[in-house]
Amino acid sequence: MVEASTPQSHNELSPQLLAADEPGPFQVLNPLAGSPILLVCDHASCRFPKSLGDMGLDPFARRCHLAVDIGAGPLTEKLAVSLGVTAVLAQYSRLVMDCNRQLMDPSAFLQFGDGTLIPGNRNLHQSDKDLRAEALYWPYHAAVDKQVQRLRNIGPAPAFIAVHSFTPVMNGEARPWEMGVLWDTDTRLRDIFLQDFTAAGFKVGDNEPYSGKAPQDFTIDHHAEEIGLPHIGIEVRQDLIDDDAGVDKIAKVMHTIIESIPKRINGAGDVEERTRVHDRG
Ligand SMILES: [Zn+2]
Repeated sequence: MVEASTPQSHNELSPQLLAADEPGPFQVLNPLAGSPILLVCDHASCRFPKSLGDMGLDPFARRCHLAVDIGAGPLTEKLAVSLGVTAVLAQYSRLVMDCNRQLMDPSAFLQFGDGTLIPGNRNLHQSDKDLRAEALYWPYHAAVDKQVQRLRNIGPAPAFIAVHSFTPVMNGEARPWEMGVLWDTDTRLRDIFLQDFTAAGFKVGDNEPYSGKAPQDFTIDHHAEEIGLPHIGIEVRQDLIDDDAGVDKIAKVMHTIIESIPKRINGAGDVEERTRVHDRG
C-alpha cells in the first residue's frame, strides 16, 4: 500500500512550486504496517519541480550524486516491500531543498558541490526558500513525524533507519568503504549493522564516509535522537546499487539484518508476528 502526497494547494495569488499534476513532496509505503521499523530516504529522488526549469544544470548534473543518492530510493522501496515495513521517501531532488539539513544551513540550498555550480540556487531570496520549504521540506518531515507517532502508539519504540548512498569518489579522492554506519551516541543499531555487514564481507566505515556526530544532519537528530528512538544512518556505496541486480543483492543482506532488529533490541517478537497482529489496513 502506498500513501501518495499531493502538492499543497495555495490560493490563486500565491506562487506555487508544484503544479497540481506533479507528484507530491513525499510518498509513504506501507503506511499502516505494524512492525517497529521506520525507513526514511531523504535523498530518494532526482525529480525537479517544473516551475524551477532545469535550475541551470545539464541533464548529467540533474541525475548525478549531488542531485540524488543513486540507488537509495529503489533500495528503500525494495526493503519496505520485502519486509512489509513503513517507509517515507522524499520525492524531489536534494538540490531543490535538502531535507536532511537545518533550514538555516546554507547547504539546504546547495550552491556548489564536488566541482559543480548550481545556478538555480544562487542569490535565492528568503521568499524562494520559504516556498520550497513549505512545499517540500515541512510536508516530508510532517509525514515522517506522523509515522513515528503512529508506530510509538502501537508498540515499542520503532527503529529509525535512514538510507543514503555515497559516491565512490569525492573531490578527487577514492573512498575505501562499501558501507557506512552513521551514529552519534546510540550504539544499538550501530553494533548490529557493523557486525552483520562485516560478517557479510563488506568493508564498513564506522562513522565513515560521514560522521553521525556531524551537526548538520537533521532528519535523525530531529525525529529519532531527540526522543530516544534506536536509530542509524546507513550509507551504501553507489556503484553497489546503481542497477536492479545490485539493489536486489544489497536488499537481501539488509533485509536479514533489519528483520532481526526488533528481537535484538526489544525482544519484541519477529517482524511477521507484529505485522500480522497490527496491520489490518
Ligand atoms: Zn543522502
